[in-house]
Amino acid sequence: MIEKTPISVAYGDGIGPEIMEATLKIILAAGASIEIETVEIGEKVYLRGIETGMEPSAWDSLRRTRVFLKAPITTPQGGGYKSLNVTTRKALGLYANVRPCISYHPFIRTKHPSMNIVIIRENEEDLYGGIEHRQTEQVYQCLKLITRPGSEKIIRYAFEYARTNNRKKVTCFVKDNIMKLTDGLFHKVFDEIAGEYPDIVNEMWIVDIGAAKLADKPENFDVIVTPNLYGDILSDVAAQIAGSVGLAGSANIGDQCAMFEAIHGSAPRHAGQNVANPSGLLHAAIMMLVHIGQYKVATRIFNAWLKTIEDGIHTYDIYNEGISVQKVSTTEFTDAIIRRLGEMPKVLKPVSYESSKPMILWKKDEHHKKSIKRLVGVDVFLDWERGSPDDLGMALSKVSAGPLKLHVITNRGIKVWPNGLPETFCTDHWRCRFMGNDDTIIQPYHLVELLKHVIEAGFDCIKTENLYLFDGIPGFSAVHG
Ligand code: NAD
Repeated sequence: MIEKTPISVAYGDGIGPEIMEATLKIILAAGASIEIETVEIGEKVYLRGIETGMEPSAWDSLRRTRVFLKAPITTPQGGGYKSLNVTTRKALGLYANVRPCISYHPFIRTKHPSMNIVIIRENEEDLYGGIEHRQTEQVYQCLKLITRPGSEKIIRYAFEYARTNNRKKVTCFVKDNIMKLTDGLFHKVFDEIAGEYPDIVNEMWIVDIGAAKLADKPENFDVIVTPNLYGDILSDVAAQIAGSVGLAGSANIGDQCAMFEAIHGSAPRHAGQNVANPSGLLHAAIMMLVHIGQYKVATRIFNAWLKTIEDGIHTYDIYNEGISVQKVSTTEFTDAIIRRLGEMPKVLKPVSYESSKPMILWKKDEHHKKSIKRLVGVDVFLDWERGSPDDLGMALSKVSAGPLKLHVITNRGIKVWPNGLPETFCTDHWRCRFMGNDDTIIQPYHLVELLKHVIEAGFDCIKTENLYLFDGIPGFSAVHG
């Protein structure tokens, strides 16, 4: 008997309690060796005035067990409630969102009968930092942050996942033809880490054409690794085209903790009717069992589930005349799976996690050599709407500090001075780049002096960004136009 692994379990809202009961009944019947700590989350907690939707005692449980099986919750409409998922992912450092999207042809209808992919989405960075500012009357900004350790963690995870799960290819989706520094870093780290896994094919697609190919021929993909926003969108598309949003589970993995859940919501209209399909949460629970090393039990459950699907025993959401044999309730579906524990599917491919081993996760590179960083200029952003780009250029050309002189002005990233085009539409948000000559040394006090002069000349300075070279390579984007 394996020692029992403590797990935190939340029953959630809507159909949550019914599908959680079904899931726990199946995994315990299959021999899962777990000790359940029930925690309260969701609508009731939000309505009690706790804006994260989770009681402090639930946080204590998660930090103790480090494994969280979570049913869907209802987010109350209106009010300043925070997303429980986003808070949990960030607070517990759950950097990898893993979502297998598999079709179960011919038993569940799909346009893509041989689809079997896993989307591994970076979960903490990108535009999801929630760092947004209104800077002028017309312009709002959201900060996109991509870090080297964040990219290394998720990309290494994707290759380790592929190797552990006997998958052959990892594809990276980015948009580095446009975002050369942020997505460019993700791509560069992908190339570096791919080199350490010669046994796994690697490829890179620009996300727009890659997404189109994914929607058209998902069978050409295997494991996909991508930054947060693209992954958020693509993992829903992939689950949907597999024909089975209600069937997919997902894992959120960190170095210390992990959370497992179905991808669907709490479907409140179906709550309490004993009709909901527990498969999404069951698949999440199978991923949890693999995570805690209970490979045999995970294998037993997945194969019994495949056999049940193959036998045509289907809940209402996947029931199809001509394919399905029996439309069953949540509890009947649960019992049908339990009866098949130990059986193997005959048409669908059986799964086996039995040769799995724990994955090697990212470790901080203690020997990383720091780049030499040199200050070469500053972008000064202005809120200004009193004239043309040439008027602004002329006024700012008179402003300087030490070696810093006006170099170029852009509006929404397009060069408008010097020699801008009259057709370029301008908002009230201007980026004015001040730089020295190639060999001049810029000191931080030059920036302070420059700002003082800009403000004294009557301009409304809303922010600055320092321009650095890292080992001689610009750490800032070139100007369009
Ligand atoms: P939903 O996924 O809850 O339901 C959409 C529809 O899908 C349902 O009406 C139902 O027809 C079907 N469906 C979903 N899961 C099913 C299942 N297991 N069995 C059978 N049919 C199923 O999406 P929604 O209606 O947009 O959201 C309802 C609530 O869930 C909202 O409050 C939303 O904020 C929340 N939500 C929570 C999570 C989460 O906790 N991770 C995720 C998404 C949505």
